[in-house]
Amino acid sequence: MARRGLEDYRAKRNFECTREPAGAAGVGGDACSEQLRFVIQKHAASSLHYDLRLEVDGVLASWAVPKGPSTDPREKRLAIQVEDHPIEYGGFEGVIARGNYGAGAVIIWDAGTYESLSEGETMAQSLERGHVSVRLAGSKLRGGYTLQRTGGGERPRWLLIKRRDAGADARRNPVASQPESVLSGLTVEDVAAERKP
Ligand code: MN
Repeated sequence: MARRGLEDYRAKRNFECTREPAGAAGVGGDACSEQLRFVIQKHAASSLHYDLRLEVDGVLASWAVPKGPSTDPREKRLAIQVEDHPIEYGGFEGVIARGNYGAGAVIIWDAGTYESLSEGETMAQSLERGHVSVRLAGSKLRGGYTLQRTGGGERPRWLLIKRRDAGADARRNPVASQPESVLSGLTVEDVAAERKP
């Protein structure tokens, strides 16, 4: 079971060498924002993947989704839970320099707010139980998604599945048709080449 908090995140990075944020001392997040945020970063690391991050208790609970999210409820996408990331990481778009953990270009592929659909339990409890159900309000993804844990270990495996609602559309394939950043309009290839918006 992945531990809550940023110790694992920091242990993997040398902040003298990477432009990724270190995360504020302590947790607690932004006390002024009431809406919980989510972000999906497209990350052209040694293998391309999409990092789904949900704000939970002042950090970003995180999964690496190799194929990215689908809008088709029949598709089950593998999502590997990784270490919690600092809230500020959700705003990171740029290049992680060669030689560092996760080296490669990162863009903010989608971002917005979410709410839990699991009534009567906290997100922390949903994560512990291995069943998370959320409604996303992003630019590319909208509506319900379920995350179901299927395996344990240091990097637990989950499945990410679109729920059947108005946001579901088997014909859409935003991973292919909308590859650009919602922040800058750049693709990971643009960012890797240091092109500017
Ligand atoms: Mn990643």
